[in-house]
Amino acid sequence: MKLGMVNHGGRAGICIDGRVYDLERDSGGTLSADPMRALAEWEAVLCWAEDLGSDVESQPLDRASLLAPVPAPEKIFGVGLNYHDHASEAGLAVPKSPLIFTKFPNCLQRPDGEVELSSDRVDWEAELVVVVGRGGRGIVEEQALSHVAGFMVGQDISDRRLQFSGKPPQFSMGKSIDTFGPIGPAVVPLSALEDPADLAITCDVAGERMQESRTSEMIFSVPELISWLSRYCTLKPGDLIFTGTPAGVGSVRDPRRYLAQGDRIVTTIEGLGTLENRCVLPRG
Ligand code: ZN
Repeated sequence: MKLGMVNHGGRAGICIDGRVYDLERDSGGTLSADPMRALAEWEAVLCWAEDLGSDVESQPLDRASLLAPVPAPEKIFGVGLNYHDHASEAGLAVPKSPLIFTKFPNCLQRPDGEVELSSDRVDWEAELVVVVGRGGRGIVEEQALSHVAGFMVGQDISDRRLQFSGKPPQFSMGKSIDTFGPIGPAVVPLSALEDPADLAITCDVAGERMQESRTSEMIFSVPELISWLSRYCTLKPGDLIFTGTPAGVGSVRDPRRYLAQGDRIVTTIEGLGTLENRCVLPRG
């Protein structure tokens, strides 16, 4: 990650090459320390970051201080079956329009936070997460990327026991348990990525490579998702879209495999960085 907005101990900062510039302090109070407000004035934040000189005070990035870069989104959309390789491993037809569920914001977790195992069937899903910058309704595909503040790495952790506990299934509950949405480490603007439509994505669990694909394998592209969602919902700065997971989740492996206490989940997307989440038993 070359450049991105981090939530450093509760304060918005711009991280460049391992140094963090505090948005509020280093801008002399022009910009806000609140990451949600920073996303609402994203153009000003990026302009300011472009002009940062070596004379501006900064501190080294401390991973242990990193919190969820977008701590309080109004909406979090999830997309089911959005990778060709995942649809085929699940034996399901390619959907004709996006399959949307929600992750409630309580599930958000810091980039290196723990995942609490709510049952013996908790699964991983490495995902690209879109962060909305400029909001709007009825956004056309051609304009969609201009409404994106940036991308993050995300994990759409899923309790398959709860998700499939009835008919129809409970996608939103099975994916919204506290700690089930690690995101970060930063909101990386698209200008910092060589090709935002084609990024390598991987997920390792307990040292074993489980998922390895490219975001170009998506069935509905980021512009298509934004256009489709904004037909129905007004998008707001800071809204998140978990864009779906590639092949290799535990519940469709042979034999099936689920997360166990002590497992480390390492999720990486080219140009966006890495999440490292340890699995623990719930704390009562
Ligand atoms: Zn997912």
